[in-house]
Amino acid sequence: AKAGGRNQYRLFDESMRNQREEELQLLSDLRDALRDGQIVPYYQPRYSATAQRTVAVEALARWIHPERGLIMPSDFIPIAEKSGLINQIGASMLEQVVRQRCAWERRGLDVSVSVNVSQRQLCEADFAAMVQRILHDNGCDPSRLELEVTETLLIEDNPVLSANLAKVRRLGIRIAIDDFGTGYSNLARLNEMSVDCIKIDRSLIQGLPRNEEIVRLVIAMCNFMQVTIVAEGIETLAEAEWAQRHGCHELQGYFYSRPVSAMEAECLMRGQAAL
Ligand code: C2E
Ligand code: CA
Ligand code: CA
Ligand code: CA
Repeated sequence: AKAGGRNQYRLFDESMRNQREEELQLLSDLRDALRDGQIVPYYQPRYSATAQRTVAVEALARWIHPERGLIMPSDFIPIAEKSGLINQIGASMLEQVVRQRCAWERRGLDVSVSVNVSQRQLCEADFAAMVQRILHDNGCDPSRLELEVTETLLIEDNPVLSANLAKVRRLGIRIAIDDFGTGYSNLARLNEMSVDCIKIDRSLIQGLPRNEEIVRLVIAMCNFMQVTIVAEGIETLAEAEWAQRHGCHELQGYFYSRPVSAMEAECLMRGQAAL
């Protein structure tokens, strides 16, 4: 029994080592991919209920791998977060997205952009300065950029993070709370921070109509705070109608479009069929 136990430990060690080696390989591949421009934003439309058109797009990172094809964020964002590479990925995403917005504007497409920002990025001392430089270099109106942060950031008591949030807001950049309703929210802090937008998490939308009261309560709170309300994860006509009827300002989800390449997003926005 003792020997068997030892064997099990050895197996466990080995699989741990393999996992570690795999992670290191992935991280090194990811570094190369970033350098080679394989990490690119895809865009998912945010449809305005009042304007009845796409007024904004959310940028979502994709790894365009020469052999393996399209790799989703769940397969590389966690390791990027863990290693700190997320700071470089995040900076590259911001740069590409702001540049794309300006290119669209020059071609007569008026659309705001939102970018996901990780906690680690917001804890970097020069984050706000970097965003400001990117906007300035591209001549981009700050009010057309929104940074999506998760609500867990609100309970973080990190002075660098708080200063960065205050700085970017002072620049006129919008702040959205992502995945709202999934974590513990400090409502007092939320109110204090005066965010511009709240994105109601997909899990709440997809629980409709069972949890209708909860979602109505969230919407009432958002209206009280006078923030833009986005319903995430809209997959059906029924969900789209419910969200519009209950006063969500923007709707986002597969019902409107999956995240697509910049070119396909442009086609969609011009009202043409996707390629
Ligand atoms: P998120 O920010 O909450 O983004 C929404 C996710 O839900 C996206 O997954 C999107 O494709 C998916 N989604 C949109 N509509 C629907 C729908 O109707 N039904 C369903 N089932 N899913 C829908 P994706 O692109 O795989 O991204 C996953 C997460 O990875 C994002 O969640 C975000 O947290 C993270 N992420 C993506 N890009 C970046 C990035 O550039 N930086 C950082 N820090 N995180 C990123
Ligand atoms: Ca998001
Ligand atoms: Ca979300
Ligand atoms: Ca998320």
